[in-house]
Amino acid sequence: MAEEFDWIVRQAAVVSSESVSLRDVAVREGRIAAIGAGVEGSAREEVNGEGRYLFPGTIDPHVHFDEPGREEWEGIATGSRALAAGGGSLFFDMPLNSLPPTVDVESFLEKKRAAEATAVTDFALWGGIVPGNQKEREGLARAGAIGFKAFLSPTGTPEFGWVDRAALREGMRQAADFGLPVAVHAESERIVTELTQRLRAHGRGSWRDYLASRPLAAEIEAVRQALDCAGETGCRLHLVHVSAPEVVEIAQAERAKGVDVTVETCPHYLVLCEEELERLGALAKCAPPLRSRRQSEGLWRALLQEQIDLLASDHSPCPPAAKATSDFFAAWGGISGCQHLLPLLLDRLAAESGSHAFPLAARLCALGSARRFGIASKGAIAVGNDADLALVEVGEPKPIATKDLLYRHPQSPYVGLPSRASILLTLVRGEVAFSRFGHPLRARGRFLPGPCGLGQ
Ligand SMILES: [Zn+2]
Repeated sequence: MAEEFDWIVRQAAVVSSESVSLRDVAVREGRIAAIGAGVEGSAREEVNGEGRYLFPGTIDPHVHFDEPGREEWEGIATGSRALAAGGGSLFFDMPLNSLPPTVDVESFLEKKRAAEATAVTDFALWGGIVPGNQKEREGLARAGAIGFKAFLSPTGTPEFGWVDRAALREGMRQAADFGLPVAVHAESERIVTELTQRLRAHGRGSWRDYLASRPLAAEIEAVRQALDCAGETGCRLHLVHVSAPEVVEIAQAERAKGVDVTVETCPHYLVLCEEELERLGALAKCAPPLRSRRQSEGLWRALLQEQIDLLASDHSPCPPAAKATSDFFAAWGGISGCQHLLPLLLDRLAAESGSHAFPLAARLCALGSARRFGIASKGAIAVGNDADLALVEVGEPKPIATKDLLYRHPQSPYVGLPSRASILLTLVRGEVAFSRFGHPLRARGRFLPGPCGLGQ
């Protein structure tokens, strides 16, 4: 007799964005086909969910998988497998640090082909707003960019330029015409360049000097510029990797005035702080930099008060040699973390608030991005949605171990941090992208076009 379903996960604590309830979840042909207290029928694969949590597959809207061109830094095959091992079913790749950067249709299609060949999760692609690519942006929108990314300060890779306020405003005007959001890396070029030059001129290069070169004032100045431009153009603004509660507050105030802005933060600003840079060294170098413990706690409170829209890893890896220097300015800035977006959040929520707080994690790691970027078929466990599911066990804390990292280069400042949450199984449209039960991995990533894309 033929089975009615491909999968049934039985009696898991199903986490919606509102509540946690014991349910069976059945999957057929890549979609969620039934949810109920007891789903009748049989499946090719039945999974015992008792004592476990079933989350919507997470969405990480901010990763740098560096392909094409810098596969020796990460690559889509390793990056997407690490993402799936953390419960992820969809990533949005940033338009830099791949080579070429994703700033025209040709480079966009090249990256799309690369991801279609090796991704085990679904994917969307950002296009870049860089000086001189005005004429390429419509093509990027039509090719299916999920949005545009712009920097207000130097990027760390010379091939992806930064824009000044006038160029950002112009880019936002175009993006508003396409109905696409603009993600802004907000640090002031003026402040960062001046402070960096002054410190470098005195031969300084410690982690403390690096922090001094990128103060909160630099982030706030740029955030205000971006918010002004969004207000003037009506563009949807997405503030990436917000590092401090002061910035959240500014964004909230502008939102109350009608600016269409969302706030993203990353686990590293929540679970690490600048006091730990001495111990962690360049592994924890990022921009904006880690802030004080007080600010990290304030950011956590803002998250609990639902002033943060979504969480992203800003996974930005590099070969170990690029971190191995005593000059903190010269070290590559970027944190490897896409494997622990959900686990790190769950660990802290479980420790402080208990599992009744898990719906917040489902919103921050799945539904928040699905809503902001208009992905109707993902982000929640609901009948008809893509069967993107993550089965999670929450038990005794265990330290995150290097041997478990699936990155091309298994390094991360999160190694050694305790984690109560471990991912047992990740499905992408009903196919296995990660399994601790020994299932063969069959998931193949599919491109999700933005709203102007043709979906081909
Ligand atoms: Zn980034």
